[in-house]
Amino acid sequence: MSISISKDTAVLVVGAGIMGAGIAQIAAQAGHTVFLFDTKENASVDAKAKLAKTLEGLVSKGKLDASTAEQALGRIQPLSELDKASSAGLVVEAIIENLEVKRGLFKQLEGLLGKDAILATNTSSISVTAIANGLQYPERLVGMHFFNPVPLMKLVEVVSGLQTKPEVAEAIFELSKAWGKVPVHARSTPGFIVNRIARPYYAENLALLHEQAVQPHVLDACLRAVGFRMGPCELMDLIGLDTNYSVTRSVYEANFFDKRYVPSAVQRDLVDGGLFGRKSGQGFYDYREGTVKPEITSFAPADVPAADKVQVHGKCVVAKRLAEALTAAKVSFTHESESAWTGLSIDDAQLRLTDGRPASQLGKEVAVFDLPISKEPGQALAFAVSNRASAEAADYAAAWLRVLGFNPQPMADSPALIVARTLSMLINEAADAVQQGVCSEAGADAAMKLGVNYPAGPFEWLANWDAGKIVQILDHLEAFYRGERYRVSPWLRLKAWQEVV
Ligand code: NAD
Repeated sequence: MSISISKDTAVLVVGAGIMGAGIAQIAAQAGHTVFLFDTKENASVDAKAKLAKTLEGLVSKGKLDASTAEQALGRIQPLSELDKASSAGLVVEAIIENLEVKRGLFKQLEGLLGKDAILATNTSSISVTAIANGLQYPERLVGMHFFNPVPLMKLVEVVSGLQTKPEVAEAIFELSKAWGKVPVHARSTPGFIVNRIARPYYAENLALLHEQAVQPHVLDACLRAVGFRMGPCELMDLIGLDTNYSVTRSVYEANFFDKRYVPSAVQRDLVDGGLFGRKSGQGFYDYREGTVKPEITSFAPADVPAADKVQVHGKCVVAKRLAEALTAAKVSFTHESESAWTGLSIDDAQLRLTDGRPASQLGKEVAVFDLPISKEPGQALAFAVSNRASAEAADYAAAWLRVLGFNPQPMADSPALIVARTLSMLINEAADAVQQGVCSEAGADAAMKLGVNYPAGPFEWLANWDAGKIVQILDHLEAFYRGERYRVSPWLRLKAWQEVV
């Protein structure tokens, strides 16, 4: 039997902090009576006063009319005692992130509310299954995971624990839509969808920093070139290194210390040193007055270096793109489309698209370049040269990459460079999440685009790439580092075989 939550259902929001206040605002704007409760004295009254200012701001910007704002505000009732909320048909809990405290609250609420009331938790990291343990009706508890700031972020992860009744999850799914959100179903596993799939965005780049392969501003520029709004280092500085580190640790611990999620010593050192990012004035970057954030040099076109024989190798989109760029630069070349690799040979030198192996493994006069995604000319693109190449090889490779329309960024000869490594690992993590029933492919794509503003979802990248090539990159990473971290998702490996046959 389906359950529906109408506008007439009174909503009790417990916890009037950052998230609770935002949830109260959108519920009231959607027409519900909202009881707002917090154990801290005056917190719910103060939160309502702040919301009055927020709504006033929306009115003055013309985003909301004055009477709608007034009515929404009128629906919010700050409470000093929970008992007064006994008529609520839905609770959204947004209190401190502590299992015992949350369990205690829900037990107390079961004694107060009708047995049909739905109990939702906004926890970002605690198991919904564990919160429900000990309740009289655990099947009515569900995760309703909003993102910060609640009124602006569209995503809601609707998280089902082992005992959550599907009808309860469905009711919250529909309610989220009615509140103007985009809900995605998730199974209660560590990190749910977004906080799990996003881990490699931080971890792989922290690993590159640990190896001193590249500078933070270069990493950031190369990932911005792919369409990420912020590179991993600037994003960790914004989130707070301490917060990001604690999410990583909780996902790592909750996965029985799986090496896939191992935290980084680079991040731990920053946290230990109180370098939390923007909020403390220093993190990967220095935000104190008078400091200047380093930036990569801007793109400069290059003259075509002298060469007797230029050949394009491969037939994938990157090979086609190289051929087009050479034609545009009026370079005469031949095309070896059946070549075993993708890239360019210039006399005895090779400039190869990374397949996950370092340049040093591939030969002497070899440079590897990162996966170009954006079609924009002048985008930052990492490259590395073999440790046996001549002294001029880096200049030579950079000059040809400029001819091809890229802004080349030299880095150490690290397998799969930056973009290919990061995207392969994001796709691999998403593939595992789908295989383990955490979410659907479409759910993962929507969650990553709406929850953390990714330019595309992992399965959208996969559709435009090639599962076989991603598996090859991961296998090469695994062979190089000899660690469990790069083990290929069974889902992805099977997908690659399916493509071959
Ligand atoms: P917050 O510290 O801003 O607010 C928490 C509020 O809960 C405080 O006002 C506190 O006084 C109150 N509180 C604590 N224990 C209580 C209790 N037993 N009963 C009633 N009120 C109590 O925290 P927040 O950032 O709003 O986070 C709240 C919840 O939302 C946490 O579970 C957190 O993991 C989750 N969450 C946070 C974010 C985020 O970006 N901040 C995003 C998604 C989910």
